[in-house]
Amino acid sequence: MAHGNTGTVVAAGSTVKPLHWLLKRTGEVVGGNKLSILIYHQVIEGTDPMRPDNPAADEFRWNMKLLRDYFNPISLAKAAQHLRNRDLPANSVCVTFDDGYLNNLQIAQPILETFSIPATVFVATGFCNGSNMWNDRLIDLIGNPQMTSLHLNALDMGSVKVSSWESRRKLVDKILPGLKYQEYCQREKIIDALYLENGAQEASRKMMSQDEIALLAQKGVDIGAHTVDHPILKSLHAEEQRHQIEDSKALLEKLTGFPVTGFAYPNGKPGSDYDATTVQIVKETGFEYAVSTTRGISTPNTNRFELNRFTPWDKNPGKFHVRMLRDTMEF
Ligand SMILES: [Zn+2]
Repeated sequence: MAHGNTGTVVAAGSTVKPLHWLLKRTGEVVGGNKLSILIYHQVIEGTDPMRPDNPAADEFRWNMKLLRDYFNPISLAKAAQHLRNRDLPANSVCVTFDDGYLNNLQIAQPILETFSIPATVFVATGFCNGSNMWNDRLIDLIGNPQMTSLHLNALDMGSVKVSSWESRRKLVDKILPGLKYQEYCQREKIIDALYLENGAQEASRKMMSQDEIALLAQKGVDIGAHTVDHPILKSLHAEEQRHQIEDSKALLEKLTGFPVTGFAYPNGKPGSDYDATTVQIVKETGFEYAVSTTRGISTPNTNRFELNRFTPWDKNPGKFHVRMLRDTMEF
């Protein structure tokens, strides 16, 4: 771990520091009232061949160091307030995590603390009793190296041979998008059936328990709501949406002892994943702001119940910084 981290940061620092300085100054000129909100999910130790996009701890560390050195990391609640008042400082950036992964507490939080970066973790509360989310269950099943042939009768796909990591990832990519838009109970039933027909064991839990959510809040990380079961809200009746939204907020407030003022729409695409009814319910439930996954920055003119976010995927500090600035300049 030390090798990757030290190597990356020293190399980046020695060769591109002037670039970062220039980008920072440019951001100061063009970046007032323009908010970048970053989305992370998991931060992992080492690498996971089935989840190559998840940043490893070393990568996340240089991401946070870069934010600390050249941006103005700010809590999302404060940033939303600044946008309302039209006095958001230049180069402001917020760090968010979706779903409530245990590695947010174990791996990401200590790094956030090292660099004094505020963050918000949006938790889907239905997974704090030891179960994993349906997408992780699917990935873990297909990524089980013990299995070279998978029975997929529950998906009407017969049996499929898998060997390389690439073939396994491709199979996930083929199955996952269709399952995502199945009704959420049905989605779980299909995954249960897949585990059953393959005689597969569940992987160890990936999500935080109730006590761990409370601990993360005690450590100063904001906890936001992300529904109970992570459904596609738009596909539910209004009353079901209300339950998903209200119940997650109520449980998180009980666990943490703090008001939960932020909400993240599962999957997060307006029109396909949530709609005006959902936004109205979020407002009525007493949230102060909500975030989508529409790519872009947010300004005082952005609806504060549909703040834009984006996933940073650049594996190089220079590109990471340039892209953040370019997003700012496009608005
Ligand atoms: Zn999510």
